[in-house]
Amino acid sequence: MTTNPPDQALTVSRAGLLPRRREPGRLDANSMRSRNRSMLLRSIWRDGPTSRADLARHTGLSRSAVSALVEPLIDSGLVEETGRGSSRGGRRPRMLRFVDEAFSVVGIDMGATHISVVVTDMRGRVRAWQRTDRSTREDPHGALQVMRQLVDAARADTGMRTGRMQAGRLLGVGVAVPSPVDPTAPGRLPPFFMPAWRDIDLERDLALSGSPPLLIDNDANLGALAESWWGAGRDGGDLAFIKLGTGIGAGFVIDGHIFRGHNGTAGEIGHLVIDPQGPQCVCGLQGCLSTFIGTPALLAAARAAGSGEPHSLLDDPALDVRRLIAAVQQGDPAARALIERAAGFLGLAVAGLINLINPRTVVLGGELATVGDALLLPLRARVQSRSMWTAVAHSRIIASRLGEQDVALGAATRVMQAALMDPTRFPVEVSP
Ligand SMILES: [Zn+2]
Repeated sequence: MTTNPPDQALTVSRAGLLPRRREPGRLDANSMRSRNRSMLLRSIWRDGPTSRADLARHTGLSRSAVSALVEPLIDSGLVEETGRGSSRGGRRPRMLRFVDEAFSVVGIDMGATHISVVVTDMRGRVRAWQRTDRSTREDPHGALQVMRQLVDAARADTGMRTGRMQAGRLLGVGVAVPSPVDPTAPGRLPPFFMPAWRDIDLERDLALSGSPPLLIDNDANLGALAESWWGAGRDGGDLAFIKLGTGIGAGFVIDGHIFRGHNGTAGEIGHLVIDPQGPQCVCGLQGCLSTFIGTPALLAAARAAGSGEPHSLLDDPALDVRRLIAAVQQGDPAARALIERAAGFLGLAVAGLINLINPRTVVLGGELATVGDALLLPLRARVQSRSMWTAVAHSRIIASRLGEQDVALGAATRVMQAALMDPTRFPVEVSP
């Protein structure tokens, strides 16, 4: 077993690259070859630079089989030889590494009130980043237009900045959406959450230049994937990601893979009922978590708390989450009390979540999470008082390490994960 070199900026837990299910018992020669090649590619991506001998040792394949399988990967440009490693008695071996710059990957985060786009290399390094505030629910055609513009701008930016990365070699585009995604029709957003998108099929209508392959998933799922690969959960273990925004959503990465549930709606933590007598929710129930700590509810409570209070920082007609956080950081007592109250509501849901799935890490994302300890400390206290001690003792609750890029980076990561699991997704010739 080898580990990633310590100077590598981004490391990744291994679980996300293990096959999810057992392979069928009997495979023909071609399937066997492509399965072995994909295993080698993942091994080189994860552990490289590595030698053919080490690959043979780690995969159980013969030296000659490794050499034969690696040659087409080198010809395709996905893998390159990079100098010689140290000798174990014989000649110093030629080392192999994955070419991180061989492809760029695009991730789009379509939020309810913003759109952002990242371009990354194959190691999750962000090469370009574009973001704009914009409401997306009511105007799908306008939102699609903005996505196309941001993707073109980010890719042009990448091409200009990096001499080596060829902006033309695009592996694919991941799209994060603020609603559950039906795995059988991922481009069709549920009208219940996105009524104006009823006639839109993202796969058909996004129409990016070059028609790259698209993968569409829920934003909290993709935030969870990003944190699990590159952020707060990269040292491994099951992870839950809670996105605090207009709505509240959770995503889970279990054994390295996104857990979606039976038809893609797992993680709708925002509609967990906190108070059956509470405010009416858009979902038809009363007193859902979102009706207490979703951005509109939070800002309404803040305005109510600020009105009439002399010199209150909350008495601001342009109050938004950013200003609310600034008020907390300046010690405004009403703002601090509001966040503490929000932590209490969130704590009920997080305690339930920890009792049910016992994740190693719970990560808070979304703009509100950047308020830090003012939210985290009362949240942890609330969870402690509401969870079974055995479950909570081993779960940590922390804020996102990746900040506002987390979901877009997760969308790109989903594309990388799919290609590393199945190298035929790389748009290159890998001859048999
Ligand atoms: Zn609800």
